[in-house]
Amino acid sequence: MFTKRIGIDLGTANSLVWLAGQGVVLNEPTVVAVTVEDNRVVAVGNEAKEMLGRTPGNIVATRPLRDGVIADYVITEAMLSYFIDRVVGRHRFFKPEIMICVPSGVTQVERRAVLDATLSAGAKVAYLIEEPLAAAIGAKIPIAQASGNMIVDIGGGSTEAAVISLGGVVVHKSARVAGNKIDEAIAVYVKKKFNLIIGERMAETIKLTVGDAMGGEPSAITHSPRSSSGQPRGQAGEAGQPSAKKDESEKLKAESGELIASSMEVRGRDVYSGLPRMITLTRSEVTEAITPVLIQIVSAVKAVLEDTPPELAADIIDKGIVMAGGTSLLTHLDRLMTQMTGVPCHVAEEALLCVVRGTGVAMENIELYKRSVSRR
Ligand code: ADP
Ligand code: MG
Repeated sequence: MFTKRIGIDLGTANSLVWLAGQGVVLNEPTVVAVTVEDNRVVAVGNEAKEMLGRTPGNIVATRPLRDGVIADYVITEAMLSYFIDRVVGRHRFFKPEIMICVPSGVTQVERRAVLDATLSAGAKVAYLIEEPLAAAIGAKIPIAQASGNMIVDIGGGSTEAAVISLGGVVVHKSARVAGNKIDEAIAVYVKKKFNLIIGERMAETIKLTVGDAMGGEPSAITHSPRSSSGQPRGQAGEAGQPSAKKDESEKLKAESGELIASSMEVRGRDVYSGLPRMITLTRSEVTEAITPVLIQIVSAVKAVLEDTPPELAADIIDKGIVMAGGTSLLTHLDRLMTQMTGVPCHVAEEALLCVVRGTGVAMENIELYKRSVSRR
């Protein structure tokens, strides 16, 4: 086999590439730096992310897929060629076959554009897979069964909630609320309450350090991480297995001092004096700041549940909801989601890799998934 088979997850925050037979070979932020005057690409991925907020006047670093739509087609194409070149090399004798996954908010016209961009970036054949399907395959959900499964992918720019049965998406909702909106809410809160201006990256750091979906509850802070992430819901049933993995990672986090941090020092610029200043932000303040955004995320999930046919809804109550994407890792979001929907929710293994893995697996087994993908 000389033809390489590649899966690409073009995410709003991170883009990942899967090479058949190898697994994830590239994982970089979806950021592109271009020159202002002629829109020429100067850097992609990690290198471009370093430039965010630090560019000289003639260069801008942007996130081309920011809110789950393709904001700039030319840049997206440049990014795709960069990824493909990185993985298969610039001078290739055999063109690769590529499966690509884009956020569901992307329109039909944009999808065609992405497929064309993939072809002009050097693919022999370009396939497109719907994000919920890719996420479900990557989360090892048996999607072909005649039984309902619900997957919720919460990334940087969008939340995708879908019910899947017989290899197809039955109900689906996409909301442009996810990790980025959580970061924004933190920045707005800090500005309002402390008159302190903080940047996008500081806001994300706060979220990763003391972000907590249920930090307002004293029990969530004072309990040991093991008991707090146990099974408060009683009816969770077999949903306990995958979350045991999370227990481990939470324990590790606790050992490294991450989870138990109840507050953090935040540096920013004073609104009035314009001078640098430092404040202490607590876990429960962050919860207060982000709760409205979390409610919007949960609403998307509830809306899908409300539209789900009763037979499939019964399956979902039995099996629980599987969460994927980076934001599903927010501390206690699974608990909040369980509490607000009444359905046991648990985070998939390697939640950040589900979509790329599912896209890659679909590419590797294209015969099996032919019905679920579009081709160009
Ligand atoms: P996308 O698919 O949209 O590119 P990802 O699934 O890669 O997004 O998730 C990126 C988002 O997840 C970012 O907003 C990031 O801040 C957030 N994120 C990553 N890890 C964590 C974590 N441990 N806790 C909370 N949020 C996280
Ligand atoms: Mg994603």
